[in-house]
Amino acid sequence: MKNDSQTFALFGNPVAQSLSPLMLGAAFREMKIDASYRALRVEDARDIPGKMEKMDIRGASITIPHKTGIMPYLDAVSDSAARIGAVNTVTRTDGGLQGDNTDWIGLVCALSEALEIKGKRFTVLGAGGAARAAVYGILHEGGIPTVVNRTTEKGQQVAKELGCDFHPLDQIQAVTGDCLINTTPVGMFPDTDASPVRADTLERFEWVMDTIYNPLETRLLKDAAGAGCQTISGATMFVHQGAQQIRIWTGLQPPTDLMKRVVLERLRDETD
Ligand code: NAP
Repeated sequence: MKNDSQTFALFGNPVAQSLSPLMLGAAFREMKIDASYRALRVEDARDIPGKMEKMDIRGASITIPHKTGIMPYLDAVSDSAARIGAVNTVTRTDGGLQGDNTDWIGLVCALSEALEIKGKRFTVLGAGGAARAAVYGILHEGGIPTVVNRTTEKGQQVAKELGCDFHPLDQIQAVTGDCLINTTPVGMFPDTDASPVRADTLERFEWVMDTIYNPLETRLLKDAAGAGCQTISGATMFVHQGAQQIRIWTGLQPPTDLMKRVVLERLRDETD
């Protein structure tokens, strides 16, 4: 008997905490696509192509720490992923393994729900993969990003490569903008009392976004709401980056509202 069910997976280390299986599984069911999506822990990125072949995995999400390490083992990489320097989506095509980055689209979609990016000034805290995706996405949409990072050399490198300004984190009081975006892990569960910046930094920004989605409302977002800023949760970015993965793998429109509901319900349960 022919089995038409399609297999998708998440590769990373660790993977147990990921909400991708819950969110993408719910999306496939709603779309009536006969598919399974499982989380697979891998220690070495170079093992991912072999596992995809052996397990007949059609598409994979790639997460920490393999988003950069996977790149040399792919047959092709999209221009955006190459420029960002990270791949979070791999698709098995007739031409081999194709790498994409959907984090930047997730970030742009999340921001666009709250504001028009074009012409606005964004202060991006951090200089890792999420920061690079943020800077790429903001520039792509006509916004003006500035990187602010703890380690000067790393921040300067990202700013130079992608084409924007840089300021060291200890000089953030001198930086102004319309929207502050945290791409550092500061404030992520279980260290939920921490914030990457002092609360009195925030009143200068109209919008504050955290790319962290666990907890749903980080200390940074609580401080921002207290300072009168509008806040944007990392959960919205997470939903949109996953929705774009489904578009890449299936060519179909994903049920974004359902995906958001499933993710928010789970994160709210975890907060209770
Ligand atoms: P990464 O490559 O490790 O980069 C982390 C950055 O944060 C580095 O620039 C680092 O600064 C800075 N940093 C770390 N600890 C710090 C501290 N105590 N104080 C100040 N700066 C600090 O990580 P990443 O892959 O970019 O991911 C970062 C976060 O993005 C994750 O925690 C995740 O929550 C979020 N994310 C969310 C989504 C989503 O869909 N919502 C998608 C991707 C990522 P130095 O350069 O000085 O070390």
